[in-house]
Amino acid sequence: MTQPIYLVGARGCGKTTVGVALAQALGCNFVDTDHYLLTSTKMSVADIVAQEGWEGFRRRESMALQSVTAPGTVIATGGGMVLADSNRQFMRENGVVIYLRAPAQILASRLEAFPEEGQRPTLTGRPITDEIVEVLAAREALYNQAAHHVVDATRPPAEIVEAVLAVLNTARA
Ligand code: ADP
Ligand code: MG
Repeated sequence: MTQPIYLVGARGCGKTTVGVALAQALGCNFVDTDHYLLTSTKMSVADIVAQEGWEGFRRRESMALQSVTAPGTVIATGGGMVLADSNRQFMRENGVVIYLRAPAQILASRLEAFPEEGQRPTLTGRPITDEIVEVLAAREALYNQAAHHVVDATRPPAEIVEAVLAVLNTARA
């Protein structure tokens, strides 16, 4: 597998967890666009949003997507990466896009169990669960549009990795 693999989906769907394990299984590199942003700017997401607004964050996110795109790489993307048409098109044209799909209730329970991983500022200032339901409803169509393959991400990580490997093999056959 030399084409980059992009993992898309809402915060908490397991892009980082599954991405690391998938990269290991494939003998690929792993990069996370959020992590790349933090190390390349030396700012947190909250800092970028405070200084440059969400618009500035989205612009930097698109640049990060292009910077990390390379053969033999599994790329975990930020939850809002699919918002821009240009990002969806870029991913579809440059690699294989996998949507890790999980319902809002599961995303919420994962993020509540590990609140330190949900540190980015809420978009609405309302409780996290309400926000997840709303954000997922707004973005679901975009995740589907971006994706070449949709994988059920409610299972344990190892099973999700197997499912992704299966769709990649089928696509290649
Ligand atoms: P993302 O990168 O998509 O935001 P993460 O990989 O950081 O998601 O996972 C968010 C949280 O959910 C982490 O605490 C992680 O351990 C947990 N998690 C991820 N995938 C699963 C899974 N398939 N089943 C149970 N918990 C999971
Ligand atoms: Mg992540």
